[in-house]
Amino acid sequence: MVTPIKKLPDEVVSKIAAGEVVVNPASVVKELVENSIDAGATQLEIVIKNGGKTYIKVSDNGNGMSKDDLLLAVERYTTSKISDLEDIYNITSYGFRGEALASIGEVSRLVITTSDGESSHKLEMIGGKVVKVSETFRERGTTVEVFDLFYNIPARRKFLSSERVEKRMVTEVVERFLITKPSVAFLFKDEESVIYNAPSSSLESRFSLIFPEVKDFQTIENFVQNDIEINGIISSPQFFRKNRTGQVFFVNGRFVLDNMLHLSLERGYGEALIEGTHPYAVIFINLPPKEIDVNIHPQKLQIKFSDPRIVYDTLARCVRERLRSVQGYQIFIRNE
Ligand code: ADP
Ligand code: MG
Repeated sequence: MVTPIKKLPDEVVSKIAAGEVVVNPASVVKELVENSIDAGATQLEIVIKNGGKTYIKVSDNGNGMSKDDLLLAVERYTTSKISDLEDIYNITSYGFRGEALASIGEVSRLVITTSDGESSHKLEMIGGKVVKVSETFRERGTTVEVFDLFYNIPARRKFLSSERVEKRMVTEVVERFLITKPSVAFLFKDEESVIYNAPSSSLESRFSLIFPEVKDFQTIENFVQNDIEINGIISSPQFFRKNRTGQVFFVNGRFVLDNMLHLSLERGYGEALIEGTHPYAVIFINLPPKEIDVNIHPQKLQIKFSDPRIVYDTLARCVRERLRSVQGYQIFIRNE
């Protein structure tokens, strides 16, 4: 028996699409903080309740939106950041797919309060439908509140982890922003306590805030080779974890997951590392935007380098040279 093919109702299509961007509270926080930074915010407040499952708030002092923009912002594929396909390959903002607010609105109760400095408006959305837009007052900036994520997709809601685990994942997302945007002030709290209260500061002090156990580290400043620029911080080899959770990589400012970057970093340490130990590292790789494709994944966590080999080798070389320059380290390199 063959089941006939039918076209899915729009309702279902938009829920499926939303599920690709919004997978858990951490992905909501990521999208909202990206929007705030894209809007030029220098101060952010992030609040979660029940690990973000019942409440998420991201409040910023960015550019805000006019009433017309606010109404457009919650529609699917509406963005102020690109206007044609070519722009994707020269992207400098986090956003460009115009999907986040629409997706979040589809699977929650969403309230946005925003002011562009001239007028202030509040928009309320339930399950993908705008139910109210009203005038209000606030300082320039935007506050997005997300209530009861996946209230209308019980199957999905069931798949969320415990509050403790969801909170951990949100915290990891916030930590990545703390690291990438040291000049931006962040206040992050939940119903119990302030998790981070981080005024505008330097990369080094943000690194120490997040990894206080690392007492000795080297800063990499402006290592340039093959059109690739590397900045960041690497721990001295005697500070390590038993897994790679102390290593984060950003490519053109975007957090990325790429196993080869971890391996290349450790290749740079060579035999300075004891078997089974993994150093800490925060690495920023910058290369011409046309050398990477960020559009292969809706959450943009994976990217494609046009010439991966060069990137990996440059990273390994950069780490090795930085460690060699520090007196007292014996860095022997295997297979090179
Ligand atoms: P994208 O970020 O890909 O453009 P979003 O759905 O995340 O898509 O946002 C849609 C639009 O809403 C953005 O392009 C931006 O113009 C506006 N916007 C969203 N969040 C904010 C904010 N915090 N401050 C100002 N404008 C915002
Ligand atoms: Mg966005």
